[in-house]
Formats: sequence, structure tokens, C-alpha cells
Amino acid sequence: MPLDMMTMSAVAVTVTAVLGLVLVFDWARQGGSAFVGLWGFALLLMSAGIVVAAVSSRAGLSGLLVLGQALMILPSCIQWYACRQFSHRRPSVIYMLVGPVGFLLAAGSGYAETFDDRLILLCGLIAAYSFSAAVELAYANGEQLPSRWPAVVLLVLTGVSFLSWLPLIAAMPIHEAGAVFSSSWFPVVILVTVLLRVALAFIVLSMAKERQEEEQRVNALTDSLTGLPNRRALFEAADAFGHRRILGGTPVAVLIFDLDHFKETNDSYGHELGDAVLKVFALTVAKHLSPRGIVGRLGGEEFAAILPGADAPSAAESAEVVRRAFARSAAFINGLAVGATVSVGVASDVEVDTDLSGLFRRADAALYIAKRAGRNQVALLESDDQSFVAAPTAAIRTSPSRLKPTPPILPRRPVRIA
Ligand code: GH3
Ligand code: MG
Ligand code: MG
Repeated sequence: MPLDMMTMSAVAVTVTAVLGLVLVFDWARQGGSAFVGLWGFALLLMSAGIVVAAVSSRAGLSGLLVLGQALMILPSCIQWYACRQFSHRRPSVIYMLVGPVGFLLAAGSGYAETFDDRLILLCGLIAAYSFSAAVELAYANGEQLPSRWPAVVLLVLTGVSFLSWLPLIAAMPIHEAGAVFSSSWFPVVILVTVLLRVALAFIVLSMAKERQEEEQRVNALTDSLTGLPNRRALFEAADAFGHRRILGGTPVAVLIFDLDHFKETNDSYGHELGDAVLKVFALTVAKHLSPRGIVGRLGGEEFAAILPGADAPSAAESAEVVRRAFARSAAFINGLAVGATVSVGVASDVEVDTDLSGLFRRADAALYIAKRAGRNQVALLESDDQSFVAAPTAAIRTSPSRLKPTPPILPRRPVRIA
């Protein structure tokens, strides 16, 4: 069935405009994605470009036609800009405008004098920007965003489709704008382009949704004050780690940190300064232990670290490093002699439960010992079957049997979350 060019143009304008409006409305609602907004705006421009080009071709207004064609290139440039921004890379307005401005200059200076020359240039530029946009999304590194792959494929297909028009233009030149309406292959070009545009618009929406869900998931697992993983994230990581460990025989250590007399710090210097102390501690512990394992805030002024592969001596040593570093950095905060300190309970073992709950309980018991011994120190609770040769001098070593006279405080906190 032969496709009528006028009908196809009307379909292209309507579908593109409707998609553009849907995307712009989605962006305009509360918390809408700028990526979606830019994509929608580009589609509206594209729709306007098709109208201008179609009207000017029919009316034989060559100057207006060139403008309409430039307006049809610009949306691809905006979409490239949106993809780059979406991938957290700094987009360049200059690179975005090079295409349409170059097109206008080429048309104005006689380099792309004939209609076919301009069509070749238009297809080449749109293909170049589509490929660039695909590259931007493909390199959106480190993010779990499966829907970007269909977007990459569709953008590459868009580029390939525009490139494939070039031999057609060479084989069946159109010569002048008005002849577009009697061209046998041009309506097919429009049909393919519209189909790709529809698919891309839906993928763009789902990418933005996926990004939003990922952000919500990360927020739910992050402590808002310190930026560290929160209690839930920490125990999820502990569970995952515990299950992985079933297969291996490497040690794992749990460190629990509790700031000393923190209530007094709040009472003496105010809650805001207390928050600043918590941030200083978070920075200190993350700096020293994040490269070795998982560090998080359990809640209040309590933090924990899980160090895979750390045996008892090295875990106690790490705890001591953090204790000293914090005592140094919290000696003065905001010009005030705060002198905050931290007590640390450490436990390490090879044979642990899959959810590490036993290890958390023992680290907690060790923390209790450190507090009772006067605070600002590290206590290490040895397991019955484990001993070690070296430990930092400040670390108190004990074993479960020595704990017996003192009623243990376990379980002080739920070790697993529901
Ligand atoms: P200890 O040495 O025995 O641990 O004594 P402590 O005062 O540190 O312990 P306690 O549990 O009595 O007090 C903890 C305090 O931490 C009480 C609470 O107001 C404070 N706190 C908990 N969360 C926050 C927070 O997000 N910001 C601030 N500024 N204070 C907090
Ligand atoms: Mg506490
Ligand atoms: Mg405390």
C-alpha cells in the first residue's frame, strides 16, 4: 500500500507533538525529571520543525525551509545534551548548537545549495548526534539502570536509519523541496523515524522512573546526617556477606563504636555541635575503614564496621587507629575544645553464623567492657577457640569466660532487622 506523504507528515507532526506534551507534563509534575522535560521539549521542537519544513516546501519558501530543517536537527542535539546530563557529565551548549548553526551556515554560504545536499547534511548531523547520545548513555557508569540499554540500541538504530537514507538520496534524488510530496521513499523514512521516536519516548520515561526508584532505594539505605549506610543497609550487607561466607574460611570482624558521654557533649555545646561531632566521627571512621569493609551508623551515636578478612589483631589495630584519629580530630570542633572520644568493641571469628549476629553480640559485649574500663579505648572479645599474638597496647583483651561475672548486656539491640 503506497503511503501518502501528506498523511504521513500529519501523523508525524501529531504523534511527535503528543509525545512531547506527555513528556513535558511528566517533567512539570512534582519532582519530574529534567531528562524527560528536555526530551519532551525536543519532540515539540521537532514537531514544529516538520510543520515549518512541510508548509515552506509546499509554498516554495526556500529560506523558511532551511530554517525548518535546522529546527529538525536541533531536537537531536537537545536529546544528546539531555543524555549527557543524565549520565552526570557536563553537557556543552556549544557542541549542542554546532549542528544546527553549521547547517544554517552551510546552507547560507552555498555549500549545501541544493535540496538534496541539505538533506544529506541533515541526515548526517542527526545520525552523528544520535550516535553521540547512544555513547553518552552507554557510558553512564556505575549505575544500575537496565532500561538505558534499549535506549542505546534505539538511538543507534535512529543513527543507522538516517545514514541509510544517504544512498537513497543519491540514487533517487528529490532535486527540489516540492518534489518531496511525490517521493516514493520519503513517507517510509517518516514512518520509520516516527516509530523509533515513539519507542524512545517510552524508554526515556522508564529510564527516569528507574533512576528515581534507585535514588529512593539509596536514600532509604543512607543515614541523612552522616551520609553513611544506615542500620538497615549495614545489616543487609552483613546478611549478604554472611551468606557468601558459608563457602569460605576467611575471618570476619565486627567493630562497634559508641561515642563517649555524648549526652554531655550535647548538653554542654548544643545539639547542632553534637551533629557536627557525629559528622567528624563518620568522616574519620569512613576514611580509615571504608576501603577495608562496610561502615555504617547503627543509630544515635553508635556506628559499626564489618571488616571481611580481618583477624582479631588487625581488627583491634584498625579500631585503635580510628579511636586515636577521632580523639585528634574531635579535640577541637568549630573552635570549641570538645574533646570527644569513642569506645570500641571488637570481635573477630572464622566460624560465624551466616547472619553475623553472634559476632555483633560479642562486639557489643566488648564495647560494654571498654565503657566499664573507663571509655576512650578498644576492647577485643576473643572467642574460646581463638587467640592472637599481637594487639595494640590500648586494646583490652578478654574472653567470654572473663565476662561471666558481669551480667552481659545482651541482646542490647536486635542484630537482625525484620
Ligand atoms: P556513654 O559514654 O555511656 O555512651 O554515654 P552517652 O552519653 O554517650 O550515651 P547515652 O546513650 O546516654 O546518650 C546518647 C546521646 O546521643 C543521647 C542523644 O540525645 C544523643 N543523640 C542521639 N542521636 C543524636 C543525633 O543525631 N544528634 C545529636 N546531636 N545527638 C544525638
Ligand atoms: Mg550509645
Ligand atoms: Mg555513647
